[in-house]
Parts: sequence; structure tokens; C-alpha cells
Amino acid sequence: MPSYFAHSALLPSGWSDAVSFSIDGQGFFTNVRPNSDPVGTEILPGVAVPGAVNLHSHAFQRGMAGLAERGGEKAGTFWSWRDVMYEFVSSLTPTDVQTIAAQLYVEMLRAGYTSVVEFHYLHMDPVGRPYATLGAMSDAVLWAAAAAGIGITHVPTLYRSGGFDAPVTDTQRRFVMDPDMLLLLLEGLVAESAGDPQRRVGLGLHSLRAVPHEELGSMVTAAWSADSEAPIHIHVAEQRREVEECVAALGARPVEWLVDNSPLDSRWCTIHATHLSPDEIRKLASSGAVAGLCPTTEANLGDGIFPLPDFLGAGGTIGIGSDSHVTVDPVGELRLLEYGQRLLWESRNVAARGRDQSTGAFLYQATLKGGARAAGRPVGALAEGHRADIVILDPDHPTLAGRTGDTLLDSWVFSATGSPVTDVMVGGRWVVRDGHHASEEPIAARYRTAMERLWA
Ligand SMILES: [Zn+2]
Repeated sequence: MPSYFAHSALLPSGWSDAVSFSIDGQGFFTNVRPNSDPVGTEILPGVAVPGAVNLHSHAFQRGMAGLAERGGEKAGTFWSWRDVMYEFVSSLTPTDVQTIAAQLYVEMLRAGYTSVVEFHYLHMDPVGRPYATLGAMSDAVLWAAAAAGIGITHVPTLYRSGGFDAPVTDTQRRFVMDPDMLLLLLEGLVAESAGDPQRRVGLGLHSLRAVPHEELGSMVTAAWSADSEAPIHIHVAEQRREVEECVAALGARPVEWLVDNSPLDSRWCTIHATHLSPDEIRKLASSGAVAGLCPTTEANLGDGIFPLPDFLGAGGTIGIGSDSHVTVDPVGELRLLEYGQRLLWESRNVAARGRDQSTGAFLYQATLKGGARAAGRPVGALAEGHRADIVILDPDHPTLAGRTGDTLLDSWVFSATGSPVTDVMVGGRWVVRDGHHASEEPIAARYRTAMERLWA
């Protein structure tokens, strides 16, 4: 049983010195003990923190990051960005998706994410038919995760309509899978993933605008009969227009509707939840659902700013995701999450307001907890029974020089120039050593070739 030793590590109880870690053959911590002796252990090359959890990813969108940034008559909205995405997606093959996802997951690991929730709605071939292997696109993503070595919660997603009471367009037909077919896919993936501690399967509901409300409840019930603890993810209240259309179609705001008409609880993760009324803030917080925040994507798309202090004040749980992957860096998400609030409130340390704690440490730990819940996997903590997912920070990196404990996390989150992440372990296996992933060169070479062809 391999054992490791860290001079300093962030445990659930806080910063601890001289911590030893024992890890079993399945990649779980069996013992985490502070004030230990390093004899007989491998000494870790820096400060040990839990790997970050990325609770929202659409892997294929990594291939179009940075390519919807031109001005012009129609260029200024979320909805025009979505048109660029539709054009890009029209020709992608399962091999392309695997190539893009592998590159993305290597980037995530190097930045310090050790697990990802893949919200997957690209199911069908370019004309909207199922592939000969129903889960060809899911398999592509799962193979990429295994090749990179990242832990994954795969979330096959129901997408049925082009808007509230609107048919799907030709550009959306690759996303539309019949509920029975999606359930078959989900059940197959649940069976296949059983016993694999690197994988979990959940259910995605694209949004209230893309899932008819009469299908939502039966899909959730069916998913929970396959796995009673399966996480359920849904995009909600990302754009004001979406909220207005929801009120017109369903007579309620999106989160209000979910609270009143779905079994919203701690198995749910509501992605974005940007536009909330005071009543929705309280109800969402008390439901136990995680608010899945994607600050750099939300900024890129001009979505709006999440009501962070009110949601935290109501006891809400948050996590972070990289969504469209304009940024692949957990501390980049945390920094923008806090800075958006500072700009809005003309104040400092908003997330930690009322807490005797540093903002960087609070945000890092709060989003580990929410991320783990949204992933439905025992991740996000250096603790017995959890996955052995460790990120090593170089204490000699100029950003961290002279820092320890919470000030080290604050410096990483708010002032890092270049990444101090040197080594990354996922499930007891080293996937990044000394800043490099073992397969980064061939994966990047395939990615470059695919991009040159796709954007030729
Ligand atoms: Zn999304």
C-alpha cells in the first residue's frame, strides 16, 4: 500500500503539518494522519491540497473557445454565441469529440482539476440519427477521461425542444434523443460504470426551455430507479430572456417552477441560476441543491452576476465549472466569482463577508464541498474513504514564496502569475509530474490536427 508524506496539507479540519497518506489499490485514502513520521513514505514535493472539482463541462466547446469574439450587428448576445456553437457542432465526429475532450482533460489536470462533470447533450449523428452504437459520443468522452486520467461524472442529457413550446431546429437535431433511448443509454452506462471508482453517471436535463415539463418528472424518477443517488443537473435562469419566456410559458420563474414542481433536493445541481428573486434564493438554498457557477463563461456570455452574498447568507451550497472552457483553471473561476461581486458591491472580500476566514480559502473549500456533491463521488477532501486526488503546489513558486496556510491559498487564487501546480494525483495515480502530463504531446498533436481540419 503506497504511503506519502506532506510537510503541509489542507485537510477537512484545516491546515495540518507532517501529514501521512496511505492509499489502497482502488485509489482511496485508507489513512490520513497529521503529525506523522516520514520514514518509509514518499515525500511529496510541495504543499498538498485536494484536487478541484469541475462540476460543469461541455467538452466539445473547448474546440471553439475564443472563436465567437467578433463584434458586428448580431454578435452581442448569448443567442448569437449559440449560433456559432451550432455551426461548429454540425460536423463533429465521435473521434473529434474524443480528441477535443482528451486535450481539455489534460489541461484541466494540469490546472488542478482532478474530477469533472460532463454535461453531455451531443448524442446524434450530423442529421440527427442515432449512431450504430447508441452511446458513441458518450464513449468518446469517457475514453478521453480514461486516457487523460481524470475522474468523471458523465451526465447524458435530455434535450427535446428548441425553446418553450418550440420545435427543434435543424441545428439542434444532434442534441435530441428520445427519452426511452436516453434512459437506455443511461442504464447501460450505470451498469458499465459499476465498480469503477473513477466514474459515475448522472442525469442531465438541458433546461426548462429544452425539456417539456411533463417529461421532466418521469425522467428523474426513471434515473433514480437506475441509481437512487444519481446526481441531476439542469441549466437554469442563465439569461433574463429565458426567465421571461419561462414565466410566459409556465407561469413561474425557472427556479420557482422547479421548487414547486420537481423533487429538488441535494442530489440536484442547478447550473448558473444567475437570475433569482429573493424568494428563489431562499428556496434554492434550503433545497440543498448546489448552485453550479461558471464565472468565466457567464462573463464571456454576458449572462449576469450570481447573487452570491444572499445565497451564501441563506446557507446555499456552491461549486464551480468551466462550462464553455474560455478558461480552464479553478482559481481563475474563483477569482472572477469574487471580483464580479467586488465590482457590483464596491466592496472587498464579499464571499467571506461575516466569516473570520480568508476569501481564497473559503471559496476553495466551499466549492470543493459543492463540487463533490454535484459529482456524486467521494472527492474534494484529503480524508479517509475519499478518492486520493491530490494537487501539489510549489512553495518556491514566486507567487507562493513566504506564504503558508490560508495566505498561500489567497495568493494562488488572487495573484498567481503562472501556475504553481507541479504535480497532480488522481485516484492514487500520478497524472501530472513536474508540470507535465505523460501524454500531453501526442494528445496536443492530435488536437492541433483536428482543429486545423475543422476550422479550415
Ligand atoms: Zn452549460
